[in-house]
Amino acid sequence: MAAEHVVIIGSGPAGWSAAIYAARANLNPLVFEGAITEDNRLAGTLPLGQLALTTEVENYAGFPAGRLDQFLKTALDEKRQAMMPPIGDEKHAVTGPELMELMRQQATNFGTRIVTDDIVGVDLKNHPFSLCSSQGERVHAHTVIVATGARANYLGLPSEENFKNRGVSACAVCDGALPRFREKPLVVVGGGDSAIEEATYLTKYATKVHLVHRRDELRASQIMQQRAFDNPKIDIVWNNVIDEVLGDDSNGVTGVRIQSTTDEGKRELDAAGMFLAIGHTPNTAFLEGQVEMNESGYIRWTTPFRTYTSVEGVYAAGDVADDYYRQAITSAGTGCMAALDAERYLASKSL
Ligand code: NAP
Repeated sequence: MAAEHVVIIGSGPAGWSAAIYAARANLNPLVFEGAITEDNRLAGTLPLGQLALTTEVENYAGFPAGRLDQFLKTALDEKRQAMMPPIGDEKHAVTGPELMELMRQQATNFGTRIVTDDIVGVDLKNHPFSLCSSQGERVHAHTVIVATGARANYLGLPSEENFKNRGVSACAVCDGALPRFREKPLVVVGGGDSAIEEATYLTKYATKVHLVHRRDELRASQIMQQRAFDNPKIDIVWNNVIDEVLGDDSNGVTGVRIQSTTDEGKRELDAAGMFLAIGHTPNTAFLEGQVEMNESGYIRWTTPFRTYTSVEGVYAAGDVADDYYRQAITSAGTGCMAALDAERYLASKSL
C-alpha cells in the first residue's frame, strides 16, 4: 500500500485549514474527520469539532453579520446544508456549524479526501507512519497532522446537557455577547484563570456574574484573583457546586440550584446562563506513548513558531497543542502552519 503524503486527523478549523493548504500544494491530503457516534456526541467529539457545538461566531475575521443564507445556498451542496441547524433567512453572523461546513467544503473543492471515522491507534515510531481507524482501515503516511482539538469539561448533570446551546455554554468568548445573556445575571463555574477570565469578560454584558467555586480559595493566579475581587459585578460564591440547572423550554436557562460543600444548604440563583470553566481535555488518548505531551495531555510543540512535535514528520495544530489561546482563528492559523511544515519536510526528503 502506497503511503499518503499527508494524513490529517481532526476536522475543526485547524484540520480544514491544514487540508486547504495541503490540497493546494498538490499533496492530496486525506482527512479523518471523526466518526458520527453516540459516544462521540456525548463526549463532545463529533466531526467538525467544538465550533459545531456553538451558535453564532462573531469574532472570526471576514464574517460580519449579513445575508449569509444566500451565500450558503451557493457554496454548499444541499445535503450538507440540510445537516445544519436552521437559522432563518435574516441577517446574522456566521454560526459555528456554518463556518465549519464552509471550511470543509473549501477543502473538498481542492480535492481533499475525507473519511468519516476516528483514528484509534497509531504507530509513529516507524516511517512511513501507520494509522488505524475504528472501522479497521489501516493507512500509511509520510506526514501526519494532528488536529483533534480538546473538549470542554462539563459537570455531567442531565439538566446541564438539556440546556446546552440554550443557556449552558463552555465558551464565554464565543457566546457571551448573544442577546440572551445581555443585561441579565449569569453564572460561571470554576476557580481557575479561565473562570476569572470568562467572568470578567461576561461583566461587559451581564448585570452580575456569580462565580460559583467549590472551595474557599481560587486556583487562579494572584493577578487574576485580584481582578475578580476588584470587579463590583463579580460575586464569588464560595464552597458551592451546581446541583441543578433550572429553566424551561421557552426561556432556556433561568437559574441554577447550588449545593454547599460545607453543609447541607441548597439555594437558587437567578441566571440567564451558566458558563463552565472547569478545564478542557485534549483529544490525545490515541497518541499515548507515541508523541510527547505535557502533564495535562496536550501535545508539546517542540520549536517556537513551528508546529513540530517530538516526532519528525508529525505536526500538531489547534487546541490539541494550544491550551492558551483556544480560538477558532488561532487554530486555523496553526493548521496552515502545520501544512506548510509538512510540505517543507516532504520536499526536504524528496517524498
Ligand atoms: P484549571 O486551572 O485546571 O482550573 C479549573 C477549575 O475548575 C479549578 O478551580 C477547579 O477547582 C474547577 N473544577 C474542576 N473540575 C470541577 C468540577 N467537576 N466541579 C467544580 N469545579 C471544578 O483550568 P483553567 O482555568 O481552564 O486553566 C487551564 C490553564 O490555562 C492554566 O494553566 C491556566 O493558568 C491557563 N490560563 C491562563 C489564562 C491567563 O493567564 N490569562 C487564562 C486562562 C487559562 P479546584 O480549584 O477546586 O481544583
